[in-house]
Amino acid sequence: MMDDCKLQEQTHRYLSRHFGWLNREADCTAAQPFLPLMLISAWDVRVQTPITAHLERCRACRADLRRLAGLGLSEADLMQAAKRLAGQTDAVQSLSPAAQAVVETIAVRSNSGVVTTAQFVEGQEVLQVRAVRPSGGWVSGRMRAAAGLAAAIVIMAALLWMRMPQATALDVNQFYQSLKRVENISVRTLDSPHQTLLQQIWVSQPLGLRLFLSEHRKVLCRTDVNRQIWQDDQGNITVVPSLAAVPEVLLPPWGLLPFGDITLLPPEYNWRRQESPDSDVHVYELSWVETLADGRRLEKLWRGHLDRHTHLPLTIEWYERWSDDRPYQLMLTMEISYPDSQAVRQAALDSGLGTGGDF
Ligand SMILES: [Zn+2]
Repeated sequence: MMDDCKLQEQTHRYLSRHFGWLNREADCTAAQPFLPLMLISAWDVRVQTPITAHLERCRACRADLRRLAGLGLSEADLMQAAKRLAGQTDAVQSLSPAAQAVVETIAVRSNSGVVTTAQFVEGQEVLQVRAVRPSGGWVSGRMRAAAGLAAAIVIMAALLWMRMPQATALDVNQFYQSLKRVENISVRTLDSPHQTLLQQIWVSQPLGLRLFLSEHRKVLCRTDVNRQIWQDDQGNITVVPSLAAVPEVLLPPWGLLPFGDITLLPPEYNWRRQESPDSDVHVYELSWVETLADGRRLEKLWRGHLDRHTHLPLTIEWYERWSDDRPYQLMLTMEISYPDSQAVRQAALDSGLGTGGDF
């Protein structure tokens, strides 16, 4: 048991963290580390904070909170879960496998697109809350950070399993097994209407190397030396510890899936396998509808071309259309390859980030 003084101090520190989000844009990533802490009864917060304001508007975060509450975790375990959701990937080892799976699923899910800001206005005691975005963007910020490949596999398998006819269940299992073995991956994302390269990522799990390249930003994350090197479009370099927030696409499932978590699938989604003229490739499609801030409905389609033998994705296409009497338009294409570690090391060297020779 904590004595009262210590409890007061901890509660104060906890609330300060909440209000550290004043005048800032709070999305799911911001809210997630707070979710387990909100379940610690001694810290029951009865005031509105920038974080509770996000939860009031965000169905996905509320669902995550309910799932965490359903685990009935001890205070110590809730603290571990909070650390994990704050990005400390080795924090949940003391949790039961079932609890770990829930926490990892939360950690890898996409931002819901709900972004809020809260501020105090002079002369008023209540928070002023504004929804910056009721609906998410299309290209960036699509995927939330993930702890490890295991979490991505669980989600991917669950996603595939949900609407899969029993006859093709074997494919799911093979896909699952194949993804487990992925050590190196490279993804090139092309703006399909213009065929311009938007971004590239290179990941080598054995080497602890993750590289992100776009016109405006380069990031090299090296877990081997606990360092992240960021370069902006002016050439300015920033170095931070590797546990600091990594660009979301540098973590499994590397921006390859529209929803990190099946609970985020909209009610109208549809999952199906398509005929493919190439017998070595299986094609799967996921379609769903997004309702934008102005009430318009945007239909989206994800099409994955998977290697029939390895069951790994080769190409992924992202389509959109405004109504079902119009054809889908191809927006983005992702080309996926599985290079060897040496190729990833070479890409890191070629990026010019880092000091060369020290990989
Ligand atoms: Zn949220």
